[in-house]
Amino acid sequence: MRPSPVRIVEIIEETSTVKTIRFDSARLDPLPGQYMMVWIRGVDEIPMSFSGPSEMTVAAVGEATRALFRLRPGDGLGLRGPYGNGFSLIGDRILLIGGGVGAAPLAFLGDVARHKGIEVTSLMGFRCSEDIIFKRRFERLGELILTTDDGSSGIPGRVSLGLERLDPDRFSQIYICGPELMMWDVIERWKDHAGKMQASVNRHFKCGIGICGSCCMDPTGIRVCQEGPVIPAVQLLEGEFGRYRRGPSGSRGPPRG
Ligand SMILES: Cc1cc2nc3c(=O)[nH]c(=O)nc-3n(C[C@H](O)[C@H](O)[C@H](O)COP(=O)(O)OP(=O)(O)OC[C@H]3O[C@@H](n4cnc5c(N)ncnc54)[C@H](O)[C@@H]3O)c2cc1C
Repeated sequence: MRPSPVRIVEIIEETSTVKTIRFDSARLDPLPGQYMMVWIRGVDEIPMSFSGPSEMTVAAVGEATRALFRLRPGDGLGLRGPYGNGFSLIGDRILLIGGGVGAAPLAFLGDVARHKGIEVTSLMGFRCSEDIIFKRRFERLGELILTTDDGSSGIPGRVSLGLERLDPDRFSQIYICGPELMMWDVIERWKDHAGKMQASVNRHFKCGIGICGSCCMDPTGIRVCQEGPVIPAVQLLEGEFGRYRRGPSGSRGPPRG
């Protein structure tokens, strides 16, 4: 599938290392949790979640994301997608648990849920107050609990400390997206509730269409780009998740984050 050309219409600087890029294609109609393959001319093609129907929220970490940061309104991009399964909205009271730029697909999910009359509670963790994104967006959805690693805003410490303020029985479904070790920590602590948790998993994608196998997970062989990126937490309890992940060469590395 060839990338479709889109034009950037707006860029919002969320923090010094995170930008939201809005583009002009209203034809995509993604579900929250789905992703697009973003082709940056002459650089690379990388997966990005939708943070809204026509937008992505990008953290600059390497060559391709820094190239995205250099783009301006009016510049062009190529997009393939939407791909993947997306989150499934279940019940009338949901909890969103995010870390860092993992807040992006959850904000989109929260908007859609609120629109359907679903009660939304959010627990979001960041390294420090300067890294917080979408604070007002989550506050508009319902109760927001914030944590920062350095204690500069909200509860001091990791996201998992925020779990102590919440009763998992209150929620019909729990959605998680963020650094893998943070997601692993949450799933482990609330293991008894794993049956109602959905996690958006990040792996190295090359093709995005289920052919190359670079994003397959051990031992199930789940292709994260096709059967994911949203995976029921019960399927993540045994296997590579939280233990290791494969990099661009296919070799095992740390799960990062
Ligand atoms: C389904 C999916 C949705 C994603 N959604 C978003 C999003 O909404 N916003 C966002 O900012 N990023 C998102 N990512 C991660 C994004 O694709 C990577 O950050 C990007 O590919 C890095 O490319 P680069 O050339 O800038 O960095 P590289 O030069 O390739 O790498 C720079 C650093 O980032 C690490 N890295 C590379 N790829 C990934 C990856 N897939 N995940 C984590 N670290 C990586 C490298 O190991 C290295 O440490 C998503 C990834 C997936 C699989």
